[in-house]
Amino acid sequence: MSVNQLSETNQVSEMIEWLASFGKTKTGGVTRRLYTPEWQAAQHALKAKMKETGLETYFDSVGNLYGRVQGTEKSGAILTGSHIDTVTEGGKYDGAYGVIAGFIAVSRLLRKYGPPKKTIETASLCEEEGSRFPITFWGSKNICGLYHFHDADGIQDENGILLSDAMKRAGFGPGKYISPARTDIRAFLELHIEQGMVLEQNNKTIGVATHIVGQRRYTIRLKGESNHAGTTSMALRKDAVTAAAQFISYLTRKAKETDPGLVATVGQIDVKPNVANVIAGEVAFSLDIRHHRQEVMEHYCNDVFSTFKRNAKKKGIHISITQWLDTAPVALDPALAEIARSIAKSRQIAFQDIVSGAGHDAQIFGSFCPTLLLFVPSRNGISHSPREYSAIRDLETGIDLLESVLYKLAYT
Ligand SMILES: [Zn+2]
Repeated sequence: MSVNQLSETNQVSEMIEWLASFGKTKTGGVTRRLYTPEWQAAQHALKAKMKETGLETYFDSVGNLYGRVQGTEKSGAILTGSHIDTVTEGGKYDGAYGVIAGFIAVSRLLRKYGPPKKTIETASLCEEEGSRFPITFWGSKNICGLYHFHDADGIQDENGILLSDAMKRAGFGPGKYISPARTDIRAFLELHIEQGMVLEQNNKTIGVATHIVGQRRYTIRLKGESNHAGTTSMALRKDAVTAAAQFISYLTRKAKETDPGLVATVGQIDVKPNVANVIAGEVAFSLDIRHHRQEVMEHYCNDVFSTFKRNAKKKGIHISITQWLDTAPVALDPALAEIARSIAKSRQIAFQDIVSGAGHDAQIFGSFCPTLLLFVPSRNGISHSPREYSAIRDLETGIDLLESVLYKLAYT
């Protein structure tokens, strides 16, 4: 390893620790929620670092931070980056890695080759997680024109602070800087930790995402009849818990049969009256379904829900099914993925295609402009936790690959 490589290796680990110092918690985790003092300090410190490196820096009015390198040709911008916010007691890598990777890749390109032909921007997007306010992708959705300031109206955090007030107190808000909505982005590239175990188990360093799964969430309510646990014979019961148990076991089996990539989860159950010696009259349970093909989810839902309805009728139980989340799957750009694969192949980097089971900013950009999403392994798949960890050599490989893809797009 040359002296230069060694110092660059240190640059990644140093920057991960440096960014984690903004909002560091006692457990070694990071809590850096949107518009808090920790978040503000991190964004301003990053801005100063970008400026030092020779990038032209600016904020937009919601607080997305950009570092721009103007291209010599007239063109739209190639954007790379990720999110700066974290969940409460999150890790050092989720989002932060993509912000740091974008910054390092762009700085290295500028240092090695000077100004690119096509403009490159590296971004620290203000919010993705929705961990302070019940709204996700506030940064990227504003850029892509899916949110506007009025979408923040009435939205407040757990202390009753309005998003619009928090934004103003942090120095942002309508008219403060340029409008966040953009029409000049020609591609978005995001590097992120996998937050799963696929790469680690397959011994791969890079995951090239082909799709981001769609998600559907439902609440299923069953209404039977509460009754005495001792005096009501088994044949006469309208037991909502028994029905729910059968339905949950059916939906689980059906998910396995339908497609290996389909996941269905019941994570929440509410039983009424929830008393040991009373037959439950009511049960409500959640159902979360994810797959990267709409028709697979459609087929699964049709089967499962018609089976539920048929069986509920037989049991004399009333059923209602309410959908409250419907996110379409996103296909990422095949041409950008191919560029990443061919560079990885030529460098003998162990890579594989992967379907992202979690949403990222790339999910929003994916329907807006050609988008590339690359993953590096997460140790034991742990994320949203102080125990989140990715090996420095993998982080480095990811940055090298990002740098090469950017070079191909902006310099050749
Ligand atoms: Zn993330």
